[in-house]
Amino acid sequence: MELSRKHLDITASLTLEIDAKAKKMRAHGIDVIGFGAGEPDFDTPSFIIEAAKEALDKGYTKYTPSSGIMELKEAICEKLKRDNNLDYEPNEILISNGAKHSLYNIFQAILNPGDEVIIPSPYWVSYPEMVKMADGVPVYVNTLDDHGFCIDLEHLKNIITKKTKAIVINSPNNPCGSVYDKKQLETIAQLAVEHDFFVVSDEIYEELLYDGAEHISIASLNPEIKERTLLVNGMSKAYAMTGWRIGYTAGKREIISVMSNIQSHSTSNPNSIAQYASLAALKGSKDIIKSMVCKFDERRKFMVDKINSIDMISCTRPQGAFYVMLNIKNVIGKTYNDRIIKGSLDFADVLLEAQNVAVVPGIAFGADEYVRLSYATSKENIEKGLNRIEKFIKELN
Ligand SMILES: *Cc1c(COP(=O)(O)O)cnc(C)c1O
Repeated sequence: MELSRKHLDITASLTLEIDAKAKKMRAHGIDVIGFGAGEPDFDTPSFIIEAAKEALDKGYTKYTPSSGIMELKEAICEKLKRDNNLDYEPNEILISNGAKHSLYNIFQAILNPGDEVIIPSPYWVSYPEMVKMADGVPVYVNTLDDHGFCIDLEHLKNIITKKTKAIVINSPNNPCGSVYDKKQLETIAQLAVEHDFFVVSDEIYEELLYDGAEHISIASLNPEIKERTLLVNGMSKAYAMTGWRIGYTAGKREIISVMSNIQSHSTSNPNSIAQYASLAALKGSKDIIKSMVCKFDERRKFMVDKINSIDMISCTRPQGAFYVMLNIKNVIGKTYNDRIIKGSLDFADVLLEAQNVAVVPGIAFGADEYVRLSYATSKENIEKGLNRIEKFIKELN
């Protein structure tokens, strides 16, 4: 029997294969160093866990309104005012099962068949697939490595068409670690207003900034761009709450209302206990975030310096999130024990076999001349893993 044609086209994550191989090696007792982590390695702060226990004891274990509890919507509005200088009403907020679910709802709500969505490349793996699942067409705009992986604005201007429905921006960025400055955001905002398309702004890494970089929410630039922006954020990265599955969208009431209807017929409310835990997180002190950022920063500096001390590979200094894009351009075409490294998949595969180090091949992000290393792992692991990479590079012919 024929299955959904649209969904047969959706690719499973390319990164899973390497991941599965690394897991298998670990199960065999091999000491694999993993740079693949897409989540903080810290525990969820205890005051948040206590709030979840309290929610259980109070019996908050039933359905909530499908768009989320009012108290949490209000806390999100307060957060957006406090941190981003943005005014939203609770009916302009939709709480979903993680920011990924927020993004999924957005594309379902705004796209018609053939609508184009501009995605900066390298990109987070799920954007193109989510656009396709909503009958949209992903269109890629280059980012420039030598300019800290920021959008090539000239290229952007050239790919806008009548069908452009939205652009996705993700700052701080996964996988590049780039942070868009005010000037770039202003240009993007101006284009969005002029050509009348949406900006889907994924701000999930907002709290993870280094070197004095500043996060600016594009919606805060002016009322015209705020109207066209769907701001996405969530608990996963800032509060080490990836498993709790709470994310949210802020946007114009009409759009939030369509998204809420979609959610009401697909997942209903996000987990009730996790919503109360998130409420405590947003109302709590940010000291805990600061101490996580401090640790990430230390590892980031160490990683960047070490990589750039190794011949043939390099990286730019990321300003946000917890990833480094390792440039392997000069390694492509080299051989390791007669195996030619033709691209990032080969690099990742051979490195794993030769030195027991797992990295994510850049091809998963549309960038075959890179591999992604996460520093959401201990300093000891980072040091050990990078020493192994150095050894690997030295053994290439
Ligand atoms: C982790 C991540 C998300 C999704 O986070 P949730 O756990 O679904 O809240 C969204 N966008 C990017 C770029 C991410 O890296």
